[in-house]
Amino acid sequence: MNEISWDVAVIGGGSAGLSAALMLGRARRRVVVLDAGTPRNRFAAHMHGVLGHDGRPPADLLSIGRREVESYGGTILTTTATLTRRDGDGFAVETADGAIVRARTLLVTTGARDELPELDGLAERWGRGVAVCPYCDGYEVRDRRIGILATGPASEFQAQLLRQWSPSITYLADAVGAPGGETRSAFDARGIRVEEGPVRRVVSRDDRVAGVEMADGRLIELDAIFTIPRLVPRDEPLRQLGAERTEHPWGSFVTVDENGRTSIDGVWAAGNVVNAMANVSISIGAGALVAGAINHALILDDVRLAVSAATPAPARHE
Ligand SMILES: Cc1cc2nc3c(=O)[nH]c(=O)nc-3n(C[C@H](O)[C@H](O)[C@H](O)COP(=O)(O)OP(=O)(O)OC[C@H]3O[C@@H](n4cnc5c(N)ncnc54)[C@H](O)[C@@H]3O)c2cc1C
Repeated sequence: MNEISWDVAVIGGGSAGLSAALMLGRARRRVVVLDAGTPRNRFAAHMHGVLGHDGRPPADLLSIGRREVESYGGTILTTTATLTRRDGDGFAVETADGAIVRARTLLVTTGARDELPELDGLAERWGRGVAVCPYCDGYEVRDRRIGILATGPASEFQAQLLRQWSPSITYLADAVGAPGGETRSAFDARGIRVEEGPVRRVVSRDDRVAGVEMADGRLIELDAIFTIPRLVPRDEPLRQLGAERTEHPWGSFVTVDENGRTSIDGVWAAGNVVNAMANVSISIGAGALVAGAINHALILDDVRLAVSAATPAPARHE
Protein backbone atom coordinates (compact mmCIF):
# COMPACT_ATOMS: atom_id res chain seq x y z
CA MET A 1 0.00 0.00 0.00
CA ASN A 2 1.19 3.55 -0.69
CA GLU A 3 2.52 5.59 2.20
CA ILE A 4 0.13 8.28 3.44
CA SER A 5 1.92 11.59 3.96
CA TRP A 6 -0.84 13.85 5.25
CA ASP A 7 -3.60 13.73 7.83
CA VAL A 8 -5.76 16.02 5.69
CA ALA A 9 -5.58 17.09 2.06
CA VAL A 10 -7.65 20.23 1.50
CA ILE A 11 -8.65 20.70 -2.15
CA GLY A 12 -9.34 24.43 -2.64
CA GLY A 13 -7.57 27.21 -0.77
CA GLY A 14 -10.20 29.96 -0.64
CA SER A 15 -11.87 31.26 2.52
CA ALA A 16 -13.29 27.88 3.54
CA GLY A 17 -10.21 25.80 2.79
CA LEU A 18 -7.68 28.15 4.39
CA SER A 19 -9.84 28.60 7.47
CA ALA A 20 -10.00 24.82 7.89
CA ALA A 21 -6.28 24.43 7.24
CA LEU A 22 -5.51 27.06 9.89
CA MET A 23 -7.52 25.18 12.52
CA LEU A 24 -6.02 21.83 11.50
CA GLY A 25 -2.48 23.22 11.59
CA ARG A 26 -3.12 24.59 15.06
CA ALA A 27 -4.39 21.11 16.00
CA ARG A 28 -0.94 19.88 14.94
CA ARG A 29 -2.31 17.96 11.99
CA ARG A 30 -0.21 17.43 8.88
CA VAL A 31 -2.26 19.44 6.40
CA VAL A 32 -1.70 20.19 2.73
CA VAL A 33 -3.79 22.63 0.69
CA LEU A 34 -4.02 22.23 -3.09
CA ASP A 35 -5.22 25.45 -4.65
CA ALA A 36 -5.73 26.51 -8.25
CA GLY A 37 -5.85 30.21 -7.28
CA THR A 38 -9.24 31.11 -8.79
CA PRO A 39 -11.54 32.14 -5.91
CA ARG A 40 -15.08 33.05 -6.92
CA ASN A 41 -14.73 36.73 -5.98
CA ARG A 42 -11.47 37.27 -7.89
CA PHE A 43 -13.31 39.64 -10.27
CA ALA A 44 -14.03 42.15 -7.49
CA ALA A 45 -11.53 44.79 -6.37
CA HIS A 46 -12.89 44.89 -2.81
CA MET A 47 -14.99 42.66 -0.59
CA HIS A 48 -17.57 43.83 1.89
CA GLY A 49 -19.44 42.57 4.91
CA VAL A 50 -16.49 40.57 6.21
CA LEU A 51 -15.95 41.68 9.78
CA GLY A 52 -12.48 43.10 10.33
CA HIS A 53 -11.77 43.04 6.58
CA ASP A 54 -14.52 45.23 5.13
CA GLY A 55 -13.29 46.83 1.90
CA ARG A 56 -10.14 44.71 1.71
CA PRO A 57 -9.12 43.29 -1.71
CA PRO A 58 -10.13 39.59 -1.72
CA ALA A 59 -6.63 38.47 -2.73
CA ASP A 60 -5.16 40.20 0.34
CA LEU A 61 -7.34 38.19 2.72
CA LEU A 62 -6.19 34.96 1.11
CA SER A 63 -2.51 36.02 1.23
CA ILE A 64 -2.85 36.69 4.94
CA GLY A 65 -4.64 33.36 5.36
CA ARG A 66 -1.94 31.46 3.49
CA ARG A 67 0.76 32.99 5.70
CA GLU A 68 -1.19 32.03 8.81
CA VAL A 69 -1.62 28.44 7.61
CA GLU A 70 2.08 28.16 6.78
CA SER A 71 3.07 29.59 10.17
CA TYR A 72 1.57 26.46 11.77
CA GLY A 73 3.39 24.09 9.42
CA GLY A 74 0.66 23.77 6.77
CA THR A 75 1.82 23.28 3.19
CA ILE A 76 0.14 25.08 0.29
CA LEU A 77 0.64 23.83 -3.26
CA THR A 78 -0.47 25.96 -6.20
CA THR A 79 -1.95 23.32 -8.45
CA THR A 80 -5.21 21.81 -9.67
CA ALA A 81 -6.49 18.49 -8.37
CA THR A 82 -7.40 16.51 -11.47
CA LEU A 83 -8.34 13.10 -10.07
CA THR A 84 -9.37 12.11 -6.57
CA ARG A 85 -9.74 8.47 -5.61
CA ARG A 86 -9.69 6.05 -2.72
CA ASP A 87 -6.25 4.64 -1.99
CA GLY A 88 -5.94 1.94 0.66
CA ASP A 89 -7.16 3.36 3.98
CA GLY A 90 -7.03 6.93 2.67
CA PHE A 91 -7.20 8.94 -0.52
CA ALA A 92 -4.95 9.86 -3.41
CA VAL A 93 -5.23 13.16 -5.23
CA GLU A 94 -3.55 13.49 -8.62
CA THR A 95 -2.59 17.00 -9.63
CA ALA A 96 -2.21 18.79 -12.96
CA ASP A 97 1.56 18.88 -12.52
CA GLY A 98 1.79 15.11 -12.15
CA ALA A 99 2.12 14.84 -8.36
CA ILE A 100 0.12 12.39 -6.24
CA VAL A 101 -0.86 13.59 -2.78
CA ARG A 102 -1.92 10.92 -0.30
CA ALA A 103 -3.92 11.69 2.81
CA ARG A 104 -5.94 9.97 5.52
CA THR A 105 -8.89 12.33 4.99
CA LEU A 106 -10.07 14.82 2.39
CA LEU A 107 -11.69 18.20 2.66
CA VAL A 108 -13.17 19.63 -0.54
CA THR A 109 -13.52 23.43 -0.52
CA THR A 110 -13.38 24.11 -4.24
CA GLY A 111 -16.10 26.78 -4.32
CA ALA A 112 -18.44 27.47 -7.21
CA ARG A 113 -18.51 29.41 -10.46
CA ASP A 114 -21.12 31.80 -11.77
CA GLU A 115 -22.60 31.10 -15.19
CA LEU A 116 -23.64 34.55 -16.34
CA PRO A 117 -26.58 35.22 -18.63
CA GLU A 118 -25.54 35.61 -22.26
CA LEU A 119 -25.51 39.34 -22.91
CA ASP A 120 -22.99 41.35 -24.83
CA GLY A 121 -20.79 43.40 -22.50
CA LEU A 122 -21.98 41.74 -19.27
CA ALA A 123 -19.10 39.38 -18.47
CA GLU A 124 -16.51 42.16 -18.90
CA ARG A 125 -18.12 44.06 -16.03
CA TRP A 126 -18.69 41.09 -13.67
CA GLY A 127 -17.59 42.19 -10.20
CA ARG A 128 -17.05 45.72 -11.51
CA GLY A 129 -20.53 47.21 -11.76
CA VAL A 130 -22.36 43.93 -12.40
CA ALA A 131 -23.01 41.97 -9.21
CA VAL A 132 -25.16 39.31 -7.61
CA CYS A 133 -25.11 40.06 -3.89
CA PRO A 134 -26.65 43.28 -2.51
CA TYR A 135 -25.04 42.67 0.89
CA CYS A 136 -21.63 42.62 -0.82
CA ASP A 137 -22.09 45.47 -3.29
CA GLY A 138 -25.41 47.25 -2.62
CA TYR A 139 -24.13 49.91 -0.24
CA GLU A 140 -21.58 51.16 -2.78
CA VAL A 141 -24.42 51.97 -5.22
CA ARG A 142 -26.96 53.25 -2.69
CA ASP A 143 -29.36 55.80 -4.18
CA ARG A 144 -27.92 55.18 -7.66
CA ARG A 145 -29.70 53.88 -10.77
CA ILE A 146 -29.76 50.09 -10.50
CA GLY A 147 -30.89 47.61 -13.15
CA ILE A 148 -32.06 44.10 -12.33
CA LEU A 149 -31.30 41.78 -15.24
CA ALA A 150 -33.93 39.13 -14.58
CA THR A 151 -32.93 35.48 -15.03
CA GLY A 152 -35.72 33.61 -13.21
CA PRO A 153 -38.39 33.77 -10.50
CA ALA A 154 -35.86 34.81 -7.81
CA SER A 155 -35.14 38.02 -9.75
CA GLU A 156 -38.48 39.46 -8.64
CA PHE A 157 -37.36 39.37 -5.02
CA GLN A 158 -33.90 40.59 -6.01
CA ALA A 159 -35.59 43.74 -7.37
CA GLN A 160 -37.49 44.28 -4.11
CA LEU A 161 -34.31 43.57 -2.16
CA LEU A 162 -32.28 46.17 -4.06
CA ARG A 163 -35.09 48.64 -3.49
CA GLN A 164 -33.79 48.68 0.11
CA TRP A 165 -30.61 50.31 -1.21
CA SER A 166 -32.02 52.62 -3.87
CA PRO A 167 -35.32 54.17 -4.96
CA SER A 168 -34.21 53.90 -8.62
CA ILE A 169 -34.71 50.29 -9.67
CA THR A 170 -35.35 49.16 -13.25
CA TYR A 171 -36.40 45.55 -13.76
CA LEU A 172 -35.17 44.26 -17.13
CA ALA A 173 -37.72 41.54 -17.83
CA ASP A 174 -36.41 40.40 -21.22
CA ALA A 175 -35.44 36.81 -20.29
CA VAL A 176 -38.44 36.03 -18.06
CA GLY A 177 -41.33 38.06 -19.39
CA ALA A 178 -43.11 40.99 -17.81
CA PRO A 179 -44.35 40.40 -14.26
CA GLY A 180 -48.08 40.55 -13.71
CA GLY A 181 -50.60 40.28 -10.91
CA GLU A 182 -49.39 40.78 -7.35
CA THR A 183 -45.75 41.03 -8.39
CA ARG A 184 -46.50 43.92 -10.71
CA SER A 185 -48.64 45.63 -8.07
CA ALA A 186 -45.83 45.25 -5.53
CA PHE A 187 -43.34 46.68 -8.05
CA ASP A 188 -45.67 49.61 -8.76
CA ALA A 189 -46.22 50.21 -5.04
CA ARG A 190 -42.48 50.55 -4.44
CA GLY A 191 -41.75 52.50 -7.65
CA ILE A 192 -39.85 49.69 -9.42
CA ARG A 193 -39.92 50.37 -13.16
CA VAL A 194 -40.25 47.51 -15.65
CA GLU A 195 -38.61 47.38 -19.08
CA GLU A 196 -40.25 44.57 -21.02
CA GLY A 197 -38.36 44.65 -24.32
CA PRO A 198 -35.25 42.76 -25.40
CA VAL A 199 -31.93 43.99 -24.02
CA ARG A 200 -29.21 44.16 -26.67
CA ARG A 201 -26.06 44.86 -24.64
CA VAL A 202 -24.49 46.36 -21.54
CA VAL A 203 -22.98 49.75 -22.28
CA SER A 204 -19.80 50.81 -20.46
CA ARG A 205 -18.22 54.23 -20.39
CA ASP A 206 -14.98 55.31 -18.65
CA ASP A 207 -14.61 51.78 -17.26
CA ARG A 208 -18.02 51.92 -15.55
CA VAL A 209 -21.48 50.58 -16.28
CA ALA A 210 -23.35 53.30 -18.19
CA GLY A 211 -26.56 51.37 -18.85
CA VAL A 212 -28.16 48.88 -21.18
CA GLU A 213 -29.03 49.34 -24.80
CA MET A 214 -32.44 47.97 -25.69
CA ALA A 215 -33.16 46.27 -29.03
CA ASP A 216 -35.23 49.31 -30.02
CA GLY A 217 -32.08 51.45 -29.69
CA ARG A 218 -32.95 53.22 -26.43
CA LEU A 219 -30.26 53.55 -23.76
CA ILE A 220 -31.52 52.88 -20.22
CA GLU A 221 -28.99 54.73 -18.09
CA LEU A 222 -27.80 52.74 -15.09
CA ASP A 223 -24.95 52.91 -12.57
CA ALA A 224 -25.01 49.22 -11.65
CA ILE A 225 -26.64 45.96 -12.70
CA PHE A 226 -27.57 43.09 -10.42
CA THR A 227 -28.37 39.66 -11.80
CA ILE A 228 -28.63 36.09 -10.49
CA PRO A 229 -26.30 33.83 -12.47
CA ARG A 230 -26.54 30.05 -12.37
CA LEU A 231 -24.22 28.92 -9.57
CA VAL A 232 -22.33 25.77 -10.53
CA PRO A 233 -20.43 23.98 -7.74
CA ARG A 234 -16.87 23.08 -8.68
CA ASP A 235 -17.33 19.66 -7.14
CA GLU A 236 -15.41 17.40 -9.53
CA PRO A 237 -13.40 15.76 -6.68
CA LEU A 238 -16.65 14.84 -4.92
CA ARG A 239 -18.22 13.57 -8.15
CA GLN A 240 -15.16 11.40 -8.78
CA LEU A 241 -15.65 9.79 -5.37
CA GLY A 242 -19.38 9.28 -5.97
CA ALA A 243 -20.68 11.51 -3.16
CA GLU A 244 -24.46 11.68 -2.80
CA ARG A 245 -26.22 14.84 -3.94
CA THR A 246 -29.35 16.80 -3.07
CA GLU A 247 -31.44 18.56 -5.69
CA HIS A 248 -32.35 22.08 -4.56
CA PRO A 249 -34.41 24.70 -6.41
CA TRP A 250 -31.11 26.57 -6.84
CA GLY A 251 -29.19 23.57 -8.19
CA SER A 252 -27.70 20.16 -7.46
CA PHE A 253 -25.23 20.14 -4.56
CA VAL A 254 -23.36 17.37 -2.75
CA THR A 255 -25.12 16.45 0.48
CA VAL A 256 -23.35 17.23 3.75
CA ASP A 257 -24.44 16.97 7.37
CA GLU A 258 -24.28 19.89 9.81
CA ASN A 259 -20.53 19.26 10.27
CA GLY A 260 -19.73 19.11 6.56
CA ARG A 261 -19.45 15.31 6.37
CA THR A 262 -20.33 13.86 2.95
CA SER A 263 -21.75 10.40 2.25
CA ILE A 264 -18.19 9.17 1.61
CA ASP A 265 -16.44 8.06 4.80
CA GLY A 266 -13.38 10.26 5.37
CA VAL A 267 -14.50 13.07 3.03
CA TRP A 268 -15.83 16.46 4.13
CA ALA A 269 -16.83 19.57 2.18
CA ALA A 270 -17.47 23.22 3.08
CA GLY A 271 -18.10 26.65 1.58
CA ASN A 272 -19.74 27.46 -1.74
CA VAL A 273 -19.08 23.99 -3.16
CA VAL A 274 -21.89 22.66 -0.97
CA ASN A 275 -23.67 25.84 0.12
CA ALA A 276 -24.97 28.25 -2.50
CA MET A 277 -25.73 30.85 0.18
CA ALA A 278 -22.20 30.97 1.59
CA ASN A 279 -20.29 34.24 1.38
CA VAL A 280 -16.75 34.83 2.64
CA SER A 281 -17.68 34.96 6.34
CA ILE A 282 -19.95 31.92 6.15
CA SER A 283 -17.22 30.01 4.30
CA ILE A 284 -14.64 30.94 6.93
CA GLY A 285 -17.03 29.72 9.64
CA ALA A 286 -17.84 26.52 7.76
CA GLY A 287 -14.13 25.83 7.33
CA ALA A 288 -13.51 26.22 11.06
CA LEU A 289 -16.44 23.95 11.93
CA VAL A 290 -15.48 21.21 9.50
CA ALA A 291 -11.86 21.30 10.71
CA GLY A 292 -13.03 20.44 14.21
CA ALA A 293 -15.13 17.58 12.86
CA ILE A 294 -12.21 16.19 10.85
CA ASN A 295 -9.83 16.40 13.81
CA HIS A 296 -12.43 14.65 15.97
CA ALA A 297 -12.70 11.80 13.45
CA LEU A 298 -8.91 11.55 13.18
CA ILE A 299 -8.59 11.29 16.96
CA LEU A 300 -11.09 8.42 17.04
CA ASP A 301 -9.03 6.76 14.32
CA ASP A 302 -5.78 7.42 16.25
CA VAL A 303 -7.33 5.79 19.33
CA ARG A 304 -8.43 2.77 17.30
CA LEU A 305 -4.95 2.37 15.79
CA ALA A 306 -3.23 2.80 19.18
CA VAL A 307 -5.48 0.23 20.87
CA SER A 308 -4.97 -2.26 18.09
CA ALA A 309 -1.17 -1.74 18.23
CA ALA A 310 -1.17 -2.17 22.04
CA THR A 311 -3.26 -5.34 22.01
CA PRO A 312 -1.01 -8.42 21.98
CA ALA A 313 -1.64 -10.76 19.10
CA PRO A 314 -3.23 -14.07 20.22
CA ALA A 315 -0.64 -16.78 20.94
CA ARG A 316 -0.17 -19.26 18.11
CA HIS A 317 -0.31 -22.99 19.00
CA GLU A 318 1.44 -25.16 16.48
C1 LIG B 1 -18.10 39.13 -8.07
C2 LIG B 1 -18.25 38.57 -6.68
C3 LIG B 1 -18.08 39.40 -5.58
C4 LIG B 1 -18.24 38.89 -4.30
N1 LIG B 1 -18.11 39.73 -3.25
C5 LIG B 1 -18.24 39.26 -1.99
C6 LIG B 1 -18.14 40.14 -0.88
O1 LIG B 1 -17.95 41.35 -1.04
N2 LIG B 1 -18.29 39.61 0.36
C7 LIG B 1 -18.53 38.28 0.56
O2 LIG B 1 -18.65 37.86 1.71
N3 LIG B 1 -18.65 37.43 -0.48
C8 LIG B 1 -18.50 37.88 -1.75
N4 LIG B 1 -18.63 37.03 -2.81
C9 LIG B 1 -18.86 35.60 -2.55
C10 LIG B 1 -17.52 34.89 -2.24
O3 LIG B 1 -16.64 35.05 -3.33
C11 LIG B 1 -17.72 33.40 -2.01
O4 LIG B 1 -18.84 33.15 -1.21
C12 LIG B 1 -16.47 32.78 -1.33
O5 LIG B 1 -15.35 33.05 -2.15
C13 LIG B 1 -16.63 31.28 -1.13
O6 LIG B 1 -15.46 30.77 -0.55
P1 LIG B 1 -15.00 29.27 -0.85
O7 LIG B 1 -13.77 29.06 -0.05
O8 LIG B 1 -16.13 28.35 -0.69
O9 LIG B 1 -14.65 29.24 -2.42
P2 LIG B 1 -13.63 30.12 -3.26
O10 LIG B 1 -13.30 31.38 -2.58
O11 LIG B 1 -14.20 30.21 -4.63
O12 LIG B 1 -12.30 29.25 -3.27
C14 LIG B 1 -12.25 28.00 -3.91
C15 LIG B 1 -10.80 27.73 -4.28
O13 LIG B 1 -10.70 26.37 -4.74
C16 LIG B 1 -9.86 26.34 -5.87
N5 LIG B 1 -10.18 25.15 -6.67
C17 LIG B 1 -11.32 24.84 -7.34
N6 LIG B 1 -11.21 23.63 -7.94
C18 LIG B 1 -9.97 23.18 -7.63
C19 LIG B 1 -9.26 21.98 -7.94
N7 LIG B 1 -9.80 21.00 -8.67
N8 LIG B 1 -7.98 21.85 -7.47
C20 LIG B 1 -7.41 22.82 -6.72
N9 LIG B 1 -8.05 23.97 -6.38
C21 LIG B 1 -9.31 24.13 -6.83
C22 LIG B 1 -10.16 27.64 -6.60
O14 LIG B 1 -9.10 27.95 -7.49
C23 LIG B 1 -10.31 28.61 -5.42
O15 LIG B 1 -9.07 29.19 -5.09
C24 LIG B 1 -18.53 37.51 -4.10
C25 LIG B 1 -18.70 36.68 -5.22
C26 LIG B 1 -18.58 37.20 -6.49
C27 LIG B 1 -18.78 36.31 -7.68
